[in-house]
Amino acid sequence: METDRAAKLEFAVQMTCESCVNAVKGTLEKQPGVHSVQVDLSREEVLVETSLSTQEVQGLIEGTGRRAVLKGMGGSEPDLGAAVAMLSGLGRVQGVVRFLQLSEDRCLIDGAIDGLEPGAHGLHVHELGDLTQDCMSCGEHYNPFGKQHGGPEDTERHVGDLGNVQAGSDGRATFRLEDSQLKVWDVIGRSLVVDSGEDDLGRGNHPLSRQTGNSGQRLACGIIARSAGLFQNPKQICACDGVTLWEERDRPIAGKGRRVTDAPTANL
Ligand SMILES: [Zn+2]
Repeated sequence: METDRAAKLEFAVQMTCESCVNAVKGTLEKQPGVHSVQVDLSREEVLVETSLSTQEVQGLIEGTGRRAVLKGMGGSEPDLGAAVAMLSGLGRVQGVVRFLQLSEDRCLIDGAIDGLEPGAHGLHVHELGDLTQDCMSCGEHYNPFGKQHGGPEDTERHVGDLGNVQAGSDGRATFRLEDSQLKVWDVIGRSLVVDSGEDDLGRGNHPLSRQTGNSGQRLACGIIARSAGLFQNPKQICACDGVTLWEERDRPIAGKGRRVTDAPTANL
């Protein structure tokens, strides 16, 4: 379900002077949904407690003319785990989805997926973190308790059943969900898949309804990897290849395009 529960987001933000601090702070503090803002100029860090999505907060900071990179996420509890999946496929669909365990039974799922047809698209955690045959090798929906497919609010559901996300006319789906069954520590190393069609939440007449929600083809997928909690990521420069944190945001994680300045990836 959609949630407005707050999380703490730690951003690295390029700031050189006190006026930058005031600009960032001023912009964020007047936004509904922002509960607190702490800025550390010397470390170029901004900590925001908010019920807005990471995408929205990043957009607000960058609206002041500065670049921002999310470095970590946390909840009110001590670190219960965070993870991220970078989705891509054979087509143009790509996205970033973050998972943050807020408590034993609350997982925040915050994401943006681009390149979708407008409308509803099924989103599921699949059993396997195996992309050797693209999204086809991800296995079935993650279902450790042998249940039938359902919707996120149902008790009879696969743990991996996250329901649908809605893409707008621009092809982008942004969402901020909370789930009671999914645990970050159970899904790290598995995969997240977005489908071409709407998940009928097990309520359809199609034979696949109770298996997959009949949500069509697998458009894009990514392995769910552990990510940093708050203040766990001291990275300023990626020492491996000299790509700085700022440049890195526009580069592929590896391969062609990593070192060169052309062909940046889509802005996620
Ligand atoms: Zn399912």
